[in-house]
Amino acid sequence: MLKDKNALVTGSTSGIGWGIAHALAEQGCNIMLNGFGDRGEIERNRAALEEQYNVRVMHHGANLLHPNEIYEMVEWTCAQLGAIDILVNNAGIQYTAPIEEFPRDKWDAIIATNLSAAFYATQYTLPFMRRKGWGRIINTASVLGLVGSVHKAAYVAAKHGIIGLTKVVALETAGSGITCNAICPGWVRTPLVEAQIQARAAQRDIDIETAASELLTEKQPSKEFVTPEQVGQLVVFLCSDAAVQITGASITMDGGATAQ
Ligand code: NAD
Repeated sequence: MLKDKNALVTGSTSGIGWGIAHALAEQGCNIMLNGFGDRGEIERNRAALEEQYNVRVMHHGANLLHPNEIYEMVEWTCAQLGAIDILVNNAGIQYTAPIEEFPRDKWDAIIATNLSAAFYATQYTLPFMRRKGWGRIINTASVLGLVGSVHKAAYVAAKHGIIGLTKVVALETAGSGITCNAICPGWVRTPLVEAQIQARAAQRDIDIETAASELLTEKQPSKEFVTPEQVGQLVVFLCSDAAVQITGASITMDGGATAQ
């Protein structure tokens, strides 16, 4: 379905981003991966994905805290792959603390990674999409872009912000062949969430699986984790022709979390 399209997926060396990259590659899309990690492992995963689906897969290690590195990544991706048809602003980090104790550097890093990076990547990519008259921008927000949660001031603020950014990009591109949407997953069991499960287990002196189950019981009525593969399939749908009139939307995939 996406043969000869080119996608840049930020934060795709792990978790949800990797699931999205996988789902897009399966549809014949070339992929620019981005994110941190062990160089050898990134290279092995890159080569395996390329071979599995017979598409081009590359990696750019831009640190999204720095707008100039985002600019270089966008330019390099267009030079290497020929275009960016699909931009998935997915990278994100988390830190939890009460507001009075929230460290300034953590606030700055979360806003920069989870919100500002999406703005810069969109700003640099849009001219390439406008030239082709086709584009899909998909922002990984969260259910915490729709509701609040204690001890997550920066994350909740950034995720609400990216939903606002999504709406503005959708309005400024409406009718141009470009759409922009936000996806709002509930709990997905990735390293970002594993850290929260481990913290809960340590704090309450319970085992990891009990902590994971408690986390789900508190917030996610289905009591099941969303999977990166499921999020990947939602992204594929948003890239399809059937989704051309979906723009400016925030789509939940949360086992009923925000229905409560
Ligand atoms: P993860 O920790 O598995 O992956 C995060 C990715 O972002 C990694 O590839 C990491 O290297 C990259 N990254 C982090 N900082 C970066 C930087 N400065 N520059 C470049 N890359 C950077 O986490 P995940 O759970 O897969 O999260 C992906 C996205 O999904 C995030 O935006 C997160 O907020 C969102 N999300 C996660 C959940 C969940 O339950 N896991 C739920 C809703 C939304």
